[in-house]
Amino acid sequence: MWQTALNEIELQVSRPNFLTWFKNSQLLDKKEGAALIGLPNNFAKEWVETKYQKTVLGILRNLDNSTKKISFVVHNNPDAVVKLPEPKTRRAILPDQLSFPELKVDPETNLNSRYTFASFVLGSSNEMAYSAAQSVIKDLGRKYNPLFFHGGVGVGKTHLIQAVGNEIKSLYQNRVKIKYVPSEKFTNEVIAAMRAKRMETIKEKYRLVDVLIIDDIQFIGGKTRTEEEFFHTFNALYENNKQIIISSDRPPRFIPTLEERLRSRFEGGMLCDIGHPDYELRVAVLRAKAQEKGIELPKEVIDLVADRVKKNLRELEGVLNRIIFYQQTKNQEISAKAAEAIISEVVQEPVQQNVNYTQIVKTVADFFEIPSNDLIGRGRKKEIVEPRQITMYLLRDVLNLSFPFIGDKMGKRDHTTAMYAYEKISKEVNKNPTLNNKVLLIKEKLTKC
Ligand code: ADP
Ligand code: MG
Repeated sequence: MWQTALNEIELQVSRPNFLTWFKNSQLLDKKEGAALIGLPNNFAKEWVETKYQKTVLGILRNLDNSTKKISFVVHNNPDAVVKLPEPKTRRAILPDQLSFPELKVDPETNLNSRYTFASFVLGSSNEMAYSAAQSVIKDLGRKYNPLFFHGGVGVGKTHLIQAVGNEIKSLYQNRVKIKYVPSEKFTNEVIAAMRAKRMETIKEKYRLVDVLIIDDIQFIGGKTRTEEEFFHTFNALYENNKQIIISSDRPPRFIPTLEERLRSRFEGGMLCDIGHPDYELRVAVLRAKAQEKGIELPKEVIDLVADRVKKNLRELEGVLNRIIFYQQTKNQEISAKAAEAIISEVVQEPVQQNVNYTQIVKTVADFFEIPSNDLIGRGRKKEIVEPRQITMYLLRDVLNLSFPFIGDKMGKRDHTTAMYAYEKISKEVNKNPTLNNKVLLIKEKLTKC
């Protein structure tokens, strides 16, 4: 009967979807009008449950009209099941720190108070950067200027430069004016000021600060007007012995299209590399974060996570959050096996470097079975909203494209729309397992492009 049903299902859903979701499905049980269908993993179960339940029920009912209801279970590997609560309880369970980090942002300096030195764990990959930061705090504007940190994604650049800002703020109180700004935001301000023909607002805003902290400077490469404005701001501050602190995902010489005069300014300061965290640092960060969140983890689980999540401390935190979620939902300590399942859900094979914009759009469109043109169009249909936000998220996450570019490509939208979509999906994936599954599956498909 299931075979007949599968033939029918294949006709109703597209072939790639059929292969992805139904290939290893089984009818496990059928009695008193209730059918129990086994799916190979939790992704498939959740997905089929939310998207194809009606279709499958309709087809089974056609074959046997005593069928009244269907339910799905994970069959094959029961240990991989992470039981998920209803959406309502989900919010309450998660530590609130996860939900509203923006509430901790000081509007004056733009600094987020959660990034402190107290919560910054030292290891061999970041101790040089840490001591350079400490020297700068003691001798603002004179010791190393600019202080330039570079390192890969999730190694702690933002945490470190914000901790410097917060430390200066608490040491010097109101005597020192600090501004933290991601370079993207700086770019947007320059664009807005240009449009309004009020460039002097930028000058006033930035040239009055004593400490300027600029995050992810690599994004200003190639933006002529922004680079120019930044160059003048930089010089004005530098000449007045004001401290400039910069982060970048690579050293200045590897930022393509960065103007020569800026590059040489950056190289004239102190360049500090933050390396990938080694095993000890990963263990220490896990312990610290677990403690911060008030939970205990078995040693073998800590060791396992630290062993498997290698480069990116943000990913490490993502795994930890899911483990906490698991423990709270199940109300029991997590086993190494269940932790393993979570790790393989979170840690992704890196998406291939040669994936491009078109492939991302096409993969998302295929995944949601909507035309690519709708996805990148201007229509506001409800079912397009989430796929479109996921596309924008991926364009940023995978390709590191700038928000103005993404907005423009996605139906000539404003950069703030792209930025909003990116931030929304980044936050939601940690809280909403269904969404997380979708994103992971799409990324998995991208690895095969
Ligand atoms: P980057 O800016 O380099 O991409 P982040 O500063 O955003 O990385 O760090 C990613 C996550 O890891 C953040 O939650 C941050 O608090 C945490 N983290 C990074 N380095 C450390 C560290 N040395 N000690 C504690 N937490 C860290
Ligand atoms: Mg950062």
